Amino acid sequence: TPDVTPLVAGNWKMNGTRDSLNEIKAMGEGVKGPLSEKVEALICPPVTLLYVSTALCDDSPLLIGAQDCHEKVSGAHTGDVSAEMIADCFGTHVIVGHSERRTDHGDTDQLVRTKAEAAHAAELVAIVCIGETEAERKGGRTLEVLKTQLAGSVPDGATAADTVIAYEPVWAIGTGLTPTSADVAEAHAFMRAELKARFGGEGAKMRILYGGSVKPANAKELMAVENVDGALVGGASLKSGDFLAIYRAYE
Ligand code: PEP
Repeated sequence: TPDVTPLVAGNWKMNGTRDSLNEIKAMGEGVKGPLSEKVEALICPPVTLLYVSTALCDDSPLLIGAQDCHEKVSGAHTGDVSAEMIADCFGTHVIVGHSERRTDHGDTDQLVRTKAEAAHAAELVAIVCIGETEAERKGGRTLEVLKTQLAGSVPDGATAADTVIAYEPVWAIGTGLTPTSADVAEAHAFMRAELKARFGGEGAKMRILYGGSVKPANAKELMAVENVDGALVGGASLKSGDFLAIYRAYE
């Protein structure tokens, strides 16, 4: 998308212990350089590693974020983490509505929207994930699902600065399967039109990431698709070599 800085984001999911901090450190070093002026890089480790990761990367352009937040600021919500707590650890981004949250924890569009609002209130960038299941794609319902999820999960007043959309076909996550470039182009063009219709100029500039089995070998092709403004990477973001190779697809 013209005049948009792409974002390459990594989602570690429930992976990573203190041993993995050397990967974060290597990524922090690896993204130093001229490319960092043109492409943003973000890693979302498990929240146990959040604070130490931001400290490790304070002299690096590598951004650090979290994978989910609660919709409230604080209170009696055992096991949950608020957007304020993420910001307090110097996290800058939070993923909301990942398909694994939607499936494992029943996060609905309405809840995802409230979480994104909580992220904005804490001055975090919300990465709002949407995407169709295999059955929905086979049933020809992909665009309809994306329309409903975008309308339901993205808060009113979202801007290009505080919101990123991640299109992740559920059937492509962790499976090694990816849609064709033509299918990615169709989905992203549709989302762009929806965002423009709702948010005007902000929607024209809002980043739309592709996620689902992005690897060093397919990153260049996927990132070259029109209206693809970066990637959300799961498995291939765990190792610095793979993550940096995907980031460098923009070289
Ligand atoms: C993800 O979890 O956001 C993801 C895209 O996973 P993977 O890259 O492993 O398919």
